[in-house]
Amino acid sequence: SPVNMDVFMDKTLKLLEAEASRKVIELKMDLEAGLYMEADEDRLRQIVMNLLSNGINYTPEGGRVTVKMEGINEDHIRIRISDTGIGIPKKDLPRIFERFYRVDKARSRSSGGTGLGLSIVKHLIELHKGTISVTSEVGRGTTFIIELPVLQQ
Ligand code: ATP
Ligand code: MG
Repeated sequence: SPVNMDVFMDKTLKLLEAEASRKVIELKMDLEAGLYMEADEDRLRQIVMNLLSNGINYTPEGGRVTVKMEGINEDHIRIRISDTGIGIPKKDLPRIFERFYRVDKARSRSSGGTGLGLSIVKHLIELHKGTISVTSEVGRGTTFIIELPVLQQ
């Protein structure tokens, strides 16, 4: 059955509110209402949770993670997750979706990740026939944009 996207996104963001406030990171959301999508809710949740927890993990205290969701050309939904965090060097950007790839093992060791999150995200988005892109600037922040078709054929 179709997922009511703003309700779903609101529920999903709430799961990370405590973690964000513990790190003193502002979680801002801008969700268009009335969007529906044919999708597996658990998979969708995994996509959003992975991107959001990266945003929180790789953003220093006092920063901000912003989520914007909107409908585009009737049949696609765009979700933009951006942060004011440490950013990703240009040379690493093409590799971050590879399994086990982490930008700086020493720096990120404390966050205890495995480097699998984004490879799973990419796989799940491809299962939904969607796309993901990323832009980033070291010391300024990172933006992930995903676009998903509302119907699966
Ligand atoms: P896991 O998600 O498996 O717990 P992880 O977060 O290290 O571990 P990915 O989510 O796949 O793995 O991310 C890969 C790498 O890309 C991270 O180690 C980090 O270096 C970089 N990265 C991902 N998202 C961001 C972000 N929002 N800001 C800065 N760097 C990021
Ligand atoms: Mg991760």
